[in-house]
Amino acid sequence: MSYTHVLAAVDLSDEARAVLKEARQIADDHGAKLSLISVVKPLTQVYGGLDMAAYTQASVNFEREAQAQAVEQLKKLGADFKVGAKDVHAVIGAPAPQIVDTAKDLGADLIVVGSHGKHGLGLLLGSTANGVLHHAQCDVLTVRIKS
Ligand code: AMP
Repeated sequence: MSYTHVLAAVDLSDEARAVLKEARQIADDHGAKLSLISVVKPLTQVYGGLDMAAYTQASVNFEREAQAQAVEQLKKLGADFKVGAKDVHAVIGAPAPQIVDTAKDLGADLIVVGSHGKHGLGLLLGSTANGVLHHAQCDVLTVRIKS
């Protein structure tokens, strides 16, 4: 199997570099294009259960500002891994569905996500990695993040 377009999903935390390093390596090995996505969660999702109606405009402004900041951070991160500014995507929404939809829109054939991979009584995958794995229409690679 040879991949043509790899999409690395990063949450802009410290683990982003580990995910991106692996994605870069795979893209290089396959001669594939590499794109980056980070998803900014809407405040209504972060504060689910609270009545946010009074803050609608403020939350729209916050989300747009967070999206703009995410684009800048992604551009910087991408530059360190030879990903051009036009290949970074910061979108607002629920992470797993947005990652899956963006992969489809871009025609990506591999999504790379991080996983804390806890065993025993812990969860094997976090909710984002799990959601992507269950709904993606292409292959998904999880990169074990050592903490
Ligand atoms: P989680 O399943 O939430 O523990 O996250 C595992 C991995 O999913 C992270 O290492 C990222 O690769 C990806 N991920 C989580 N949240 C986001 C996000 N907001 N945007 C893009 N990717 C994310």
